This record gives sequence, C-alpha cells and structure tokens, in this order.
Amino acid sequence: MAYKIITECNNCGACEPECPNTAISQGDEVFVINVEKCTECVGFNAEPQCAQVCPVEACVPDEGHKEAKEALLAKAKKLHPEKKFA
Ligand code: SF4
Ligand code: SF4
Repeated sequence: MAYKIITECNNCGACEPECPNTAISQGDEVFVINVEKCTECVGFNAEPQCAQVCPVEACVPDEGHKEAKEALLAKAKKLHPEKKFA
C-alpha cells in the first residue's frame, strides 16, 4: 500500500530525500507522494522512511491504495531494473 501525506505536513522537506523511489515532491499545499512510485520502501528499508523521519506524523498508509508485499516488490523492481533485490 502506498503512503500518503496528510494536511498536518508543515513542509519541512525532511521526507523528500529519504525516499528510495523519489516518490515525494512539494505539492501545492503540502508535500505529496506519487502512488505509482511509492513501494512502502519494500526492497530498501524495513520501515517506510518518510514516516520514520516526519516530525509531525504526516506520512500515513493510504488505505485507498492497498497492495500486497509482492506487488510492492514488483513495483520496486520495475523502478530499479539495475538493482538486485533479495
Ligand atoms: S513509504 Fe518509502 S517509498 Fe513510499 S513515499 Fe515513503 S519513503 Fe518513499
Ligand atoms: S517530513 Fe512530514 S512535515 Fe516534513 S515535508 Fe515530509 S510530510 Fe511534511
């Protein structure tokens, strides 16, 4: 399942460089996550890095975009064809 950023975001920018998939960018009001690129950090980190670094807990699971771990890993492989995943 992709993560999303809620309105509590204070635009600090801490999450953006932590994303292994460059899925995070500055939006009109707050930072936003591209659901096509978010893999919940599967293949890179045990925990979603955006949620780990966010000081106001604004990075949360997007219940509208639920995906199985296998689907998330397939997405990661597509985004990083050069990387060997365990
Ligand atoms: S959960 Fe991981 S892949 Fe998804 S936006 Fe956050 S840092 Fe990026
Ligand atoms: S770390 Fe949290 S508060 Fe900072 S830009 Fe990202 S979502 Fe917003």
